[in-house]
Amino acid sequence: MELQYVSTRDASEVVSASQAILKGLANGGGLFVPTSIPKLDVSLQDLSKMSYQEVAYEILKLYLSDFTEEELKTCIARAYDDKFDTEEIAPMVYADGAYYLELFHGSTIAFKDMALSILPHLMITSARKNNVTNEIVILTATSGDTGKAALAGFAGVEGTKIIVFYPKDGVSPIQKQQMVTQVGDNTLVVGINGNFDQAQTGVKKMFADEAMAKELAEAGYQFSSANSINIGRLVPQIVYYVYAYTRLLANERIEEGEKINVVVPTGNFGNILAAFYAKNMGLPIDKLICASNENKVLYDFFKTGVYDKNREFVLTNSPSMDILISSNLERLIYRIAGEDASKNAQLMKLLTTEGKYEITPEMKEKLADFYGNFTSEAETAEVIRNLYEKTGYVIDTHTAVASGVYEQYKKDTGDTKATVIASTASPFKFARSVMGAIDEACLDMEDFALVDKLSEIANVEVPKAVEEIRSAEVRHKMVCEVDEMPQVVRDFLK
Ligand SMILES: *Cc1c(COP(=O)(O)O)cnc(C)c1O
Repeated sequence: MELQYVSTRDASEVVSASQAILKGLANGGGLFVPTSIPKLDVSLQDLSKMSYQEVAYEILKLYLSDFTEEELKTCIARAYDDKFDTEEIAPMVYADGAYYLELFHGSTIAFKDMALSILPHLMITSARKNNVTNEIVILTATSGDTGKAALAGFAGVEGTKIIVFYPKDGVSPIQKQQMVTQVGDNTLVVGINGNFDQAQTGVKKMFADEAMAKELAEAGYQFSSANSINIGRLVPQIVYYVYAYTRLLANERIEEGEKINVVVPTGNFGNILAAFYAKNMGLPIDKLICASNENKVLYDFFKTGVYDKNREFVLTNSPSMDILISSNLERLIYRIAGEDASKNAQLMKLLTTEGKYEITPEMKEKLADFYGNFTSEAETAEVIRNLYEKTGYVIDTHTAVASGVYEQYKKDTGDTKATVIASTASPFKFARSVMGAIDEACLDMEDFALVDKLSEIANVEVPKAVEEIRSAEVRHKMVCEVDEMPQVVRDFLK
C-alpha cells in the first residue's frame, strides 16, 4: 500500500511521496509528513549484515513507496558512490566514552551531503513519474553547509537550476569559498545583507508567491526546495541512525534490542527529527539529546514549552546552527498536537505574528523522549581542546556543541547507555575555530596554513573538498538586499 503525505497545516492536502518531494513545501506553508510512520520490516540482525546502500534501500522503500525498487536502487547507487571517501559512507569513531558517527565523508565534508547527494536523483525521478516537463528551479537559503551540498548535488543535473542565498557575513571563510567557486552554468550563488533567518524567510515568501509561480510556469519553470523541509532530505537522514545502531550491534558493542542515546547538534531540527522518526520506526533509541549553541531557542522550548524567537541572534563559531526558526520542529509540533493540522496551523501563525507560541501541558508531556541543553562558545572551544589533548581526536565546532551537551546530560542524569554523537562536519571546514580552540597562537595564521596545521596535528589528510578550493576561481560575486531576492531570481531565469 502506498504511504501518503499530508500537510501539517491542512488535512485536506494529501499527496504521494514523489509529489511531496517535487513540491517541497505544502500550500499555505505547511510541511509534508507521512500519514503514519512505517515500522522497520527487517530485523536489526539482518540489517547489521547489510552495506550502507542496502540499509538505505530498506528505509527508503518504506517511505517512498510510489518509487519502484529499480528507481530507488538507481538513486541510491548514484548518491552513495565514490563521492564519499570511505566505503562505509558513515564510519564511527569511539573517543572518550562516546561513538562519533562521522557524517562528513561526502563531497562537501558536512552531513548535508548524506541527503543532498541523493535528493537531485529523487527529484528528477519524481518529475518523470509525475510527467513534469517544466525545468525545476531549486531555491535554497543556507546557513553555510546546505548551500554547497545542494550546489554539489544539482550542478550539471539536466532539467534543473539551483539558486543559493547565504548570509554574507554569517558563514565561515571556507564555507564561503566553497560556494563562490561553484562551477556549473545552472548554478547561482548570492550573498544577502542579512542573517540566515532573513534568507530563509525570503525564500519561503517566494515559494508562497502565487503570482510569481504563475509567471515562472509560463516561462517553463517551477520552484522546488532543497532545504531540510523537503521530505526527500528527511528520509535519507533516517538511514544513518539505523546504520549506526546496526554497526554497534555487528561489532558487539551492544546487544540486540539494547537502547542507545543519540546526541544531535541542532539548527533547523532536521537531523534530530530523522532520529525521532528512526525511534518511532522501532529502532531502540532511548533519549534524543538536542544540542544547541548560544542560539538556544530549542533548549528553552524543551524546558518551558514556550518557543520564542524574540531574542538577539548570536553569531557563533558553529554557524550552521545559528538559527532561531527551526523549521522542522513544526513536524514534531504537529505530531504532539495529535496530528491536528488546524491546531498546528494556529501555533505556526502565532510564530509568524508574535514570534512565539506556547504548547499545552498535554503536548509537553509527549516530549519526554527529548533532552535539550546548550554549550556556550567558551565551553565549545574547551571541549575541542580537551578531547584532542586526551585522545588526539579532533572534532569540529558543531560536533563539539553536541559533545558538550552530552557531558551535561551525563552529569544531570548519570545515564551510562551507549551513546552516538552525530558528527556533522569535518574539522577542516571550520579550521580557524578548531585550531583557535586547540592553540590560540594559531589565530594569526592564514586559512589554508591553518588547514595544513590541522592536518599535521590530527594526523588526517586534507580532504579533497578543501584541496580543491585552495586555488579555484571565484565565480559568484553577487550580493543583494533581502527584498531584492525575487528580482535576482527573475533575472537569472530570463
Ligand atoms: C546543518 C548543520 C547542522 C544542523 O542540522 P539541522 O538538521 O539543521 O538541525 C549541524 N551541524 C552542521 C555542520 C550542519 O551543517
